[in-house]
Amino acid sequence: MAPDVTRLAEYEYEVPGVEKGYTNQTLYVDLGGNEIRAKEVSEEMKELFVGGRGFDMWLLWHAFPLDRRIAWDDPENALCISSGPLGGTTNFPGSGKSIVACISPLTGIPIDSNVGGYFGPYLKFSGWDALEVQGRADNDVVVYIDGDEGRVQLLDIPGLPDDSHLLADQLTELFADGDPKSVSVVSAGSGADTCYFGCLNFSWYDPQRQAVRYKQAGRGGTGTVFRDKNIKALVVKHTGVSPTSNNPADPELLKEIGKKHTKEIVQLDPKQNRMAVVGTTHLVPIMNEYDLLPTHNYRYGRHEGADQVGEAKYEELFDRGFDGCWRGCTVACSHLIKNFELTSGPYKGETVYVDGPEYETVAGCGPNCGIADPYHIAEMNFYCDTYGLDTISVATATAFVMELYEMGEIDDDVTGGLQLTFGNQEAALELLHQMAQGRGFGKHVGKGIHYLKDYLAERGVDPSLMQDIGMEAKGLEYSEYVTKESLAQQGGYGLALKGPQHDEAWLIFLDMVHGYLPSFEDKAEALHWFPMWRTWFSLNGLCKLPWNDIVPEDNEETEEPAKVMEHVRNYATFFKAVTGRDVGPDDLIRQSERVYNFQRVFNLRMGKGTREHDSIPYRSVGPVTVDEYESRMERYDGQLEELGHDIDGKTTEEKVALLREHREQQYETLIDAVYRRRGWNKNGVPAIDHLHELGIDFPDVIEIVKPYQ
Ligand code: SF4
Repeated sequence: MAPDVTRLAEYEYEVPGVEKGYTNQTLYVDLGGNEIRAKEVSEEMKELFVGGRGFDMWLLWHAFPLDRRIAWDDPENALCISSGPLGGTTNFPGSGKSIVACISPLTGIPIDSNVGGYFGPYLKFSGWDALEVQGRADNDVVVYIDGDEGRVQLLDIPGLPDDSHLLADQLTELFADGDPKSVSVVSAGSGADTCYFGCLNFSWYDPQRQAVRYKQAGRGGTGTVFRDKNIKALVVKHTGVSPTSNNPADPELLKEIGKKHTKEIVQLDPKQNRMAVVGTTHLVPIMNEYDLLPTHNYRYGRHEGADQVGEAKYEELFDRGFDGCWRGCTVACSHLIKNFELTSGPYKGETVYVDGPEYETVAGCGPNCGIADPYHIAEMNFYCDTYGLDTISVATATAFVMELYEMGEIDDDVTGGLQLTFGNQEAALELLHQMAQGRGFGKHVGKGIHYLKDYLAERGVDPSLMQDIGMEAKGLEYSEYVTKESLAQQGGYGLALKGPQHDEAWLIFLDMVHGYLPSFEDKAEALHWFPMWRTWFSLNGLCKLPWNDIVPEDNEETEEPAKVMEHVRNYATFFKAVTGRDVGPDDLIRQSERVYNFQRVFNLRMGKGTREHDSIPYRSVGPVTVDEYESRMERYDGQLEELGHDIDGKTTEEKVALLREHREQQYETLIDAVYRRRGWNKNGVPAIDHLHELGIDFPDVIEIVKPYQ
């Protein structure tokens, strides 16, 4: 190691072998007191919380006293990272995820974010089921976990760069010892110092491109908390991953089930979504065709330039090669653009690799801001990543201020001269650089839409208009789907525990493209089963894409095609093969239900777990403006007539109001039905009996929910 590195603290340990997916201990680091120690994982913790997001929530819950609601920047806020018992498997696709959790700067409640890269698996193979970092260091610190030697160190390494693409490279080189594949780095970037939606980059080394690549834990400001703690980077080193690194209970069964699922993906992906070639960009033309692609701050669902930023274009731009963000992932959707020349910002003129873009970045930084230039999107993608900023929040916040500017609600005085019209690529990039550098109007936009609503109200912007068109709920910016015609997805966003992110209930495709949820009851049932099932991936260190983005050929003929039950059964076998616990699909849902309800109670503990916090902006329910209504007049007029309204002679404003009354009522009725299905009362609080049934009726949990029964 370089001579000018100062060791601030060190902890030596014997690296335990992994047993059936667990190491049975977690690593605790207090940056304020330079303390490093192990915590035991109990059988109860494994039984009730499984791992991954479950362990994160358990650790975070116990990180600060029950009677105190900490703020995100309180040193007691804990940044937790865990993979899960199946995480690190190399012979079942999509099994290398890490799940990050902390109290979010945007929402004030727990955020959980699921990310690829090698950190989570390497952390476990280094002896730790989870990492929990509390406190705040006096100066920037690197936490180094050497899983080969059994050593954890807090290091002061002077002269490191701030932005991720440089930082991850340098740290990989510093710790690689000739084997860069053995190192994974977690870093944020300069933007996470100033914005509330800082993200984390989790790296892996790509031997084919001889480059450090990364994936993002994007949502909710985990990078902001990371930088608030003065963490420069987390580095883990582990050598010697193998198909039995998890020491599975039944290696033969694991081999068999992994082979079956892998074979199907290899055979069917080329006939279905071609994710190994175009990633998730195949969604762009589909969303555009079904009027679901967010355009001009979710006003419309279609953009005339969508073809320019669809899969065909990215197929040309992506470099061909194996793009799995963990070993053995045959979906291999994590593509990159090589040798991209930057046109703006601090690295202008330099040639870089761009990891991405994925669908959300394309839709958000593209059509939602009125832009259909794939090179602009690539540049936004690169800078968001290296600055450590969430592309979704950046895009949605930018689209919001663009609409206000177009409406004349804000002017050049407010924006500092930035002409934020839809389609103005230069202004969008400049706004991003301002956010990252904490200057100009960008300094405020970087604090998110929830903050902007107050900031701009003080500058004369109509608060009720901002309430309607500011696409955030619980404080988190919306991800990139137009939900006006999908009641199910409205619920999917509004009821999501962490705020409107699609990974909890991505029902839009099932509802609008496949037409699988025709009745009200179907939608309410889906809002129980799908969030529970999707939660399960995060308990286990898994990616959900191999579950339903590529499906068995006869799936359509099965009883419940939306659930892809054959794959669900594969996952039950996978769980059994690794942990030795004999489970069926219903047991997996039960596992998730425990963590899900616990997290809902956690929201309540933080002051945001009741019905009022499940409300959503009207833009996600129906047309807000006259222009929006008139752009889809036939559809909306038809719906009003079906409801029995005589619309002859009515003005558009009157029709907007009539439709709104109906749609808002529908949303409330849906919420009632979902709460009932989930075992919650009318205020959205889990009933004590339900918590008892789930086995999570701990005294402190009951103390939180009791006043709301
Ligand atoms: S499907 Fe894509 S995102 Fe998921 S693990 Fe595989 S490469 Fe990573």
